[in-house]
Amino acid sequence: MAEKTQRLDIVTPERKVLSEDIGFVVVPGVAGELGFLPEHTPLVSALKTGIVRVQQDGKEFKIAISSGFVEVKNSRVVILADAAERADQIDKSRAEAAKARAEQRLSSSSSDIDVARAEAALKRAINRLRLLH
Ligand code: ATP
Repeated sequence: MAEKTQRLDIVTPERKVLSEDIGFVVVPGVAGELGFLPEHTPLVSALKTGIVRVQQDGKEFKIAISSGFVEVKNSRVVILADAAERADQIDKSRAEAAKARAEQRLSSSSSDIDVARAEAALKRAINRLRLLH
């Protein structure tokens, strides 16, 4: 018998990153990881910057997302993220440069740096680099 599937859509303000029939997906909820099989009960949750892990046809692939929301309904999982990239879309040197920039801002003694913004940028950069390892 064919494996049950559900539709996974990952959308950002800039583009549709993914629209695929998949088996199982794990997303980085703000209070911890959430896993969804087809026919999951309806749910909406905020997401933090982290990795989405997808199982499709017995294989796994991963997508880095930069915070957002997930909605699950009628065997459809929709992720609305500020940004999302598959491993092959990530520019490693750009992420390394963003990481160095954020670290430098956080270590500076200047009072006019926006700490929350620099920390969020650092998390996005580390997350992208994590997906490449
Ligand atoms: P940077 O400072 O390098 O712009 P950022 O974390 O501020 O990094 P975002 O605002 O999260 O960037 O993303 C802006 C756009 O650039 C999004 O479309 C995102 O997918 C893309 N993007 C950001 N960093 C990378 C990267 N290292 N490789 C590929 N795409 C990236």
